[in-house]
This record gives sequence, C-alpha cells and structure tokens, in this order.
Amino acid sequence: MSPQDIVEALEGRGWKAKVLKQSDLAQPSVKVDDAGLFKCVDGRKSDHSAMNGPKTLGGVYALVAARKQRDLGSLKEAVDEVKKAGFAPSVHGDEGSHEMGCGFFKLWSTGQLDDLDPPEYSAKEGREAVQDAGGAYETLEGKHSESCVLINLVEGTTYEPQNDQSFVVDAWITSTFDLDVPAYLTRAAETVEKLDGPKVAKIIVAG
Ligand code: ZN
Repeated sequence: MSPQDIVEALEGRGWKAKVLKQSDLAQPSVKVDDAGLFKCVDGRKSDHSAMNGPKTLGGVYALVAARKQRDLGSLKEAVDEVKKAGFAPSVHGDEGSHEMGCGFFKLWSTGQLDDLDPPEYSAKEGREAVQDAGGAYETLEGKHSESCVLINLVEGTTYEPQNDQSFVVDAWITSTFDLDVPAYLTRAAETVEKLDGPKVAKIIVAG
C-alpha cells in the first residue's frame, strides 16, 4: 500500500488523513533498539523506561491476533519471535483496570473485533504467559487523551509517549513479521474507532 492508498482507505472510513514527512512533525522520531519495548500503540505514559521500541496493537498480541491464533502456546512463540527479531516483547495493563487496561486486548477478548474470535485465555493468563516466556508487562498511567494516530512507515523508527498523546502505529513491523498490510491497518483503524479515539491520522514517511 502506498501512503496515498492509506489516506484514501482511511478517508473512506470517514477519517481525516494526510501524508507528512518526519521533519514536518514537532515531535522527533527515535531509532528503535533491542532494549526498547515492542509495545502497545496506546499513547499513555508507562512505568517502564524503554519506550524506543515498535508500537503495535496490544504489543505481542498484535502478532497472534493478526494470525488468528487463540492459544497460549502461540502467544509464547510470538514472544520468542519478537526477541529473535531484536525487540523486547511486552503486553500491558493500566492502573485502574489492571490487565484489562489494554483497549485492544479488551476488544479482542470480549469478541468486539470484526471476524476475529476471542483468545482462549484471560488477560491475566496472557500476561503470565508473556512473562514466563521472558517478555515484559508494563502499567500505563492516567487517562487517554490521544488527539491523533501516527501511522509510521519509516522502518526502524518510532515515537515515544508524550504529554500531547498520540496513538503510534509503527506499520513498518508488518514487513518484519510478514503480516498482511491492509488487514493490519484496517484492524488498527477499527480498534481506534471502537475505543472512541480520534479519526485523525498522520501517515509518516521518511524525510
Ligand atoms: Zn493496549
């Protein structure tokens, strides 16, 4: 999908969307490294310090949900896969809802995502499996106030949480993990819509 294809797909869902270069944003991108959490797109601040990792739908849950894998064994395998790809796998909760504080996981586990059966495990069991396999669990702080969705196409880069929150979808991970790009981006849009997030997207390209 070209950046303009993404704009048109989002506009077709009633979003506002435009393509921007990295240098058009006030917030600088950062390079990901192997200590940075492979973590949820959720824009809130974390109790974990390593925010320079790729942002995905629910962290490790992004991979198993995209592949419609519902069992704990597949979740543990996905943790290994993320480590082998050079990132630090994670899932999250928040202060108020504990493990159910991840909006993506909550939508998935309560059967609210289109054409996707829920996982066979609870949020707590998912957290334990990820940690048993060597992944991290982070607790996010405060309330959601995301004002836009950054769809970042620049491989190896991300945006860190800040006071002016954004959902950050590092869409370049679709090639790292061989995911279907339109299906993943559609899921991202659906997730934001069902969480009553902003239907405003900036598609970030190099430059
Ligand atoms: Zn989340």
